[in-house]
Amino acid sequence: MELKQIQIPPTSTSTSISSPVKHKKSITNIDYSFSENPAPAPSNLLLYLTNAVFFAAVYFLLVSWRDKIRHSKPLHVISSSEMAALLAFAASFVYLLGFFGIGSNPLQDQQEEEKQITLKKKKENDDDHVVTPPPPPPAAIKSDPIIISSDDEEIVKGVAEGRIPSYSLESKLGDCKRAAAIRRKALERITGKSLDGLPLESFDYESILGQCCEMPVGYVQIPVGIAGPLLLDGEEYSVPMATTEGCLVASTNRGCKAIYASGGATSVVLRDGMTRAPVVRFSTAKRAAQLKLFLEDPLSFDTIATAFNKSSRFARLQTIKCAIAGKNLYMRFTCSTGDAMGMNMVSKGVQNVLDFLQTDFPDMDIIGISGNFCSDKKPAAVNWIEGRGKSVVCEAIIKEEVVNKVLKTDVASLVELNMLKNLTGSAMAGALGGFNAHAANIVSAVYIATGQDPAQNIESSHCITMMEAVNEGKDIHISVTMPSIEVGTVGGGTQLASQAACLNLLGVKGASNKVPGANSRRLATVVAGAVLAGELSLMSAIAAGQLVKSHMKYNRSSNKP
Ligand code: ADP
Repeated sequence: MELKQIQIPPTSTSTSISSPVKHKKSITNIDYSFSENPAPAPSNLLLYLTNAVFFAAVYFLLVSWRDKIRHSKPLHVISSSEMAALLAFAASFVYLLGFFGIGSNPLQDQQEEEKQITLKKKKENDDDHVVTPPPPPPAAIKSDPIIISSDDEEIVKGVAEGRIPSYSLESKLGDCKRAAAIRRKALERITGKSLDGLPLESFDYESILGQCCEMPVGYVQIPVGIAGPLLLDGEEYSVPMATTEGCLVASTNRGCKAIYASGGATSVVLRDGMTRAPVVRFSTAKRAAQLKLFLEDPLSFDTIATAFNKSSRFARLQTIKCAIAGKNLYMRFTCSTGDAMGMNMVSKGVQNVLDFLQTDFPDMDIIGISGNFCSDKKPAAVNWIEGRGKSVVCEAIIKEEVVNKVLKTDVASLVELNMLKNLTGSAMAGALGGFNAHAANIVSAVYIATGQDPAQNIESSHCITMMEAVNEGKDIHISVTMPSIEVGTVGGGTQLASQAACLNLLGVKGASNKVPGANSRRLATVVAGAVLAGELSLMSAIAAGQLVKSHMKYNRSSNKP
């Protein structure tokens, strides 16, 4: 048959894989080509012929049988021409049944095959004209698809092949978002690993340039929960906490509830000064000691402060504390820094003083602007004893009924647990500033939410939690003393949109327009207040034996509503 002569053209593997979009387009074209083709196909000619034979045979037989009836001739006596007409009728009938698809699978299959051939041909033509790669199937899309133009594709190649330094993309392109997208594509190509799931879109890459993060390829999402209201110094605060630890926000929230129900907490900022301690070397210990005596002489202070304070209108030198190790001298400068956390400010001030000292002590060899006696982002007794950043104490008296009803424990159990765990247990462990249950949990979550330096949680989490039965043993006095809370409301990550929103929620965004430093000090007290709430709740959970139970409830995804 004519249809069987159609050959399936060979198709390459690449053209046999096409996107759903392209398939759709091809199928649409096929439908139109079937109805619009003006030239009769060979199969159509055969159909016309068969129809003609069918009707001619029927007509001939009917006329012949009518004549036989009229002339009373027997119908079963068949002439050769009638026999031929009968055969033609039968053959054309069978063909027509098959053509219209009544019980004839081979014909149907052929027609389907013909469709497929046309589809493949159409697709091949489409492939020739494809400029942009097809979008991936919807099921595979986990994050926003990253579209790279053909121009950018060249840059991606350059970065992947090492011809273009990745770090130079922002300055070369003048478009931070585009730079991040290109760097990300190149990274995926170099490593062969997908970054699907790490979002790229909806982030202001210009805002981090030269300030917060180099060579960005996206951003990590951390959920922000709210604990509160925290009633502190007569004000209510909704405390933002960025965390992925189940239970933490819920627990802090419970502590806030207990504090609120007991009339609130109060706080005091005991000290406010950021530190930096350079290390310098002399040829003798005596020379090092001479500089120490000069720096610690009250008569020298004004001269040194004048040099130091040139660094910023907010930097004001407070103290200089020195330590000697042989012929090496460590000078710990402490200064107020307004609403900034202050590391940049204090470092600039120290550099000014070192430049000034070089005139009177030309034999002073500056080893490093930071000699670790500061001490930044490392556990150190100097911060625990002397303080760094804001030193805060925060307290509350929690009523007996609140301890019983909200915290589900009793005063005596809490006091005993605090003594044996936070004080004795930590002493047994040789703790340095770790006389608490989990201050670091709250500090880190609030720091991340409000754009603080999360690495400073080390010394910022130094905390001693005290509990004592008061009011004839009925109520409990709880306090947290935190000597090194390092926070700011200007500079660093505080200016980024999400972090600024969290600071705004607390009413401490940016520089204070009343007193420089008022916002950052208030933030420090909120951190201490939230730690107080966290200590209260976790200690109660442990005292009541609820810890494992509540973690099973909040830390298991199977418990999702
Ligand atoms: P840090 O010293 O914490 O690293 P930055 O140097 O990033 O902070 O930010 C401090 C900058 O912000 C300084 O240039 C300072 O002049 C400016 N600034 C504006 N208002 C204040 C303020 N109220 N307190 C402190 N710094 C402020």
